[in-house]
Amino acid sequence: MPDTTIPQSWEARAEAASFFGFTDLPSIHARGTVVLTHGTGPYVHDTNGKTYLDANSGLWNMVAGFDHPGLIEAAQAQYARFPGYHAFFGRMSDQTVQLSEKLVEVSPFERGKVFYTNSGSEANDTMVKMLWFLWAAEGQPERRKILTRKNGYHGVTAVSASMTGKPYNSVFGLPLPGFVHLSCPHYWREGRPNETEAEFTARMAQELEDTIAREGADTIAGFFAEPVMGAGGVIPPSEGYFQAIVPILRRHGIPIISDEVICGFGRTGNTWGCETYDFMPDAVISSKNLTAGFFPMGAVILGPELSDRMQNAAEAIEEFPHGFTASGHPVGCAIALKAIDVVMNEGLMENVRTLTPRFEAGMAELAKHPHIGEWRGKGLMGALEAVHDKDTRTPFAADLSISERIANTCTDHGLICRPLGQSIVLCPPFIMTDAHMDEMFEKLEGALTQVF
Ligand code: PLP
Repeated sequence: MPDTTIPQSWEARAEAASFFGFTDLPSIHARGTVVLTHGTGPYVHDTNGKTYLDANSGLWNMVAGFDHPGLIEAAQAQYARFPGYHAFFGRMSDQTVQLSEKLVEVSPFERGKVFYTNSGSEANDTMVKMLWFLWAAEGQPERRKILTRKNGYHGVTAVSASMTGKPYNSVFGLPLPGFVHLSCPHYWREGRPNETEAEFTARMAQELEDTIAREGADTIAGFFAEPVMGAGGVIPPSEGYFQAIVPILRRHGIPIISDEVICGFGRTGNTWGCETYDFMPDAVISSKNLTAGFFPMGAVILGPELSDRMQNAAEAIEEFPHGFTASGHPVGCAIALKAIDVVMNEGLMENVRTLTPRFEAGMAELAKHPHIGEWRGKGLMGALEAVHDKDTRTPFAADLSISERIANTCTDHGLICRPLGQSIVLCPPFIMTDAHMDEMFEKLEGALTQVF
């Protein structure tokens, strides 16, 4: 007799033996899961033969599509040559050496040093440990507090989740003490009645000044920000935001870390988001596009000052006692070298710039809908915010899950996009064509019509 307790379908098997994170579990009990088998260009295909245009680029990262031949070849060649190694005990692979040189070359800095991790969370975690380490080595061990912003997303490890400004982390009893969240610089939502955008930005800067005075500059280790908040719902900063806050941080000697996990390597139309917003950080955090999603990898890229300070701090006690088994994995490095080349030299970043006006026009058109309060974005990342009342900007009741309903309707019609709060987020792959753009907007418009 066959054991009928063993689920037969892929969808049931996925639910039975795997635990889904970041998933509305009642909704998948009702709708079922999607099990994917392969991808072609910007499309993914499931076990039932259904095709989806992935306007999510996987999770912001599959910017070159799912079957880029050059990336597959780079991975295969490196697996055949040298399938794995770490980057410590004074050893690293030749691919790691080359990637570090390349990352410093394309970084915002004239010189610097790179430290490798397996993810963006670990890269942020590593950066925090570096700051704690170097301040202590320099005789200021009380400089441990980390400043970030509400709605900012920096990852899921205990430290990077503490940096993340999302209320859901309270279920873990996070943030840890010493993580201070400033306001989210979202003028449309957070601006006060009759407050101009310039006044709003000045208020954000004053809040930073007040926070530093309250906490004590000599207790603060560093400030982290995404140039455009991604998982917070694609929130570009208010006009002049970085120009207002960077001088304040500099005056207090607080290192500025640009979390470029989403923005880095092309998403906003330039190599770095800090380039797009014209500010100079002390270090950048990279992941996702770094390998075009073909390998789990993160990197901390230190600018000249932090490189020197870290080197001195480490030499003073002989080592920086930190690293992951797969730090600087040669296959990841070979893929990253190819991915950087593909994005920067084979026209992908150029395509982001070419597609941006069309993307913006499509978003602006959808934002005319009576239940879309705002569209916002930069380069090829954008969000449509659903509102119950467009004039008063009153949101829908949270339990209506409007954005989930829109995203689920899109999925039914073969389009993957992401519900985030009351917003629908789009971050299409850089290989999109005009035809893909048209398909994306048609399906989204159809979903809006169906839901409202
Ligand atoms: N930082 C930012 C800006 C991110 O968007 C993410 C992930 O989405 C992370 C850090 C964490 O990266 P990972 O999921 O690779 O740990």
